Amino acid sequence: MIDEKLQEAFNDQINKEFYSEYLYLAMKVYFQELNLQGFVNWFDVQVQEEHAHAMGMVNYLNDRGGKIDLRAIEKPVVEGNTPLEVFEHVLRHEEYVTSRINHVMDVAEEVKDRAAMHLLDWYIKEQVEEEASVGGVLATLRLIGDDKKALLMLDKDLAARTFTAPVIG
Ligand code: MG
Repeated sequence: MIDEKLQEAFNDQINKEFYSEYLYLAMKVYFQELNLQGFVNWFDVQVQEEHAHAMGMVNYLNDRGGKIDLRAIEKPVVEGNTPLEVFEHVLRHEEYVTSRINHVMDVAEEVKDRAAMHLLDWYIKEQVEEEASVGGVLATLRLIGDDKKALLMLDKDLAARTFTAPVIG
């Protein structure tokens, strides 16, 4: 069995991972409207990753005999009017997610749940990669500025990203 306070922290985080999936879907739509297909692909991979993150916690809670509580997913709001501003929002969002995963880890430490800490180690490492990957695109967008040709070159690069189902835990 899993501690109730930790179960609550996991259920809250499951909701936030599904919200991330929904937010990135909204961003994918934003780039579809701009016809930047490489960015569309990048967000499509992001959507699939967030779904996998949420399901990793759903399956874990189930394995531990916990009670999964699926909650309403907030309406996603894309902040920003340019690709650069949207990516600034992505980075802010990932930094927020990192802080929430750290919170779940705090609870796991508090109740001395070593198995949960082991799982959460994976999520913490994943957040380092998420922030680095977003930061990389953001740095390129800052270099690009108003250069439309360079933006199209970045779009081509982002078209190459592929989704690999993560092995969580
Ligand atoms: Mg995530």
